[in-house]
Amino acid sequence: MKTAKVVNSMNRVNPMKIAVASGDGIGKEVIPAALQVLDALSLNIEKVPVEIGYGKWKRTGKAITNDDLDLLRSCDCTFFGAITTPPDPDYKSVLVRIRQEFDLYANIRPVKGIGKGKNINFTIVRENTEGMYSGIEQVFPDAVHSTRVITHKGSERIAEYACLLAREDKDKEGDRRTHPKRLTIVHKANILKSCNLFREVCISVADKHKVPWEDMLVDATAHRMVLDPERFELIVTTNLFGDILSDMAAALIGGLGLCASANIGENYALFEPVHGSAPDIAGKGLANPIAAILSLAMMLKWYGKTKESDAVHDAVAHVTAAGITTPDLGGRCSTMKVADAVTAAIETR
Ligand code: ATP
Repeated sequence: MKTAKVVNSMNRVNPMKIAVASGDGIGKEVIPAALQVLDALSLNIEKVPVEIGYGKWKRTGKAITNDDLDLLRSCDCTFFGAITTPPDPDYKSVLVRIRQEFDLYANIRPVKGIGKGKNINFTIVRENTEGMYSGIEQVFPDAVHSTRVITHKGSERIAEYACLLAREDKDKEGDRRTHPKRLTIVHKANILKSCNLFREVCISVADKHKVPWEDMLVDATAHRMVLDPERFELIVTTNLFGDILSDMAAALIGGLGLCASANIGENYALFEPVHGSAPDIAGKGLANPIAAILSLAMMLKWYGKTKESDAVHDAVAHVTAAGITTPDLGGRCSTMKVADAVTAAIETR
């Protein structure tokens, strides 16, 4: 089975081309802040702006068009901000559409404490295309049936990706690991037959790759994650469970403003901060840009620019340790002040 690589090592002749979709709300603030950091790396990267989201929906009646999808397709990957959900009962999520259109089956969410919870360092690998978000729903007058779809293929490829990460990811010191990370397979197989399939496939893939594994019920995982988050190294789970656990994990390390993510497919990827458009703080310069900046670092790593990706991580660690933070982390700095400090840290290093 072909599996997308952690580092995308496709041989490329042309410069990297990224679609930039900042979207709505604080997406419009954190994405330009992150792009300033990207510019400090002096890489030959073409940026293609793409307008999608609520703002576009208000203007044109559509949040995303086929032309927008073609524009995204013409690039190597997308750097995405956030989208406010339009108040339309027939509205279908733009992000879910992009994930399905490009078959971005692996959602990767690193959970790494910077100040708060600095010993927490694990990654959640979430299946991104099926489960409770299959999109199969039947609405009856007095009931709604949402279909949870778990397939052998979907479980196998996410387990393959998780095993790849278990072997290729770096440890806390940044050295190449000699031992694979322990994989925690999270499910609810005592109740759901679909989870039984997921669990069994994940176990057989982990055994095949000689990746050490344990399995854990999702409720027990939530409990242990609050009590002892340092014990986790790598989690693989289904769509809805991964969605919930990763937001909970964000709270353990200081909030959504720090959490980056990648949506990975065979030939395409989308990188985005985990947070949404946060209308309550939009336009005030209060948004923490670190999640977007770390998403950028994930993009650089995926593209094979590992040295530059590490430089961004180092600069972020330096800036947060110096207390240059936005109010969500207890600081007094604006979005751009934090971005300026990260940019300066890259330039001086
Ligand atoms: P949406 O409807 O787009 O999902 P939301 O406000 O419901 O937006 P989030 O954007 O994920 O959901 O944010 C939840 C809360 O977390 C926000 O109200 C905001 O105060 C806070 N928050 C989210 N992202 C950031 C950030 N980057 N910096 C500071 N605070 C943030």
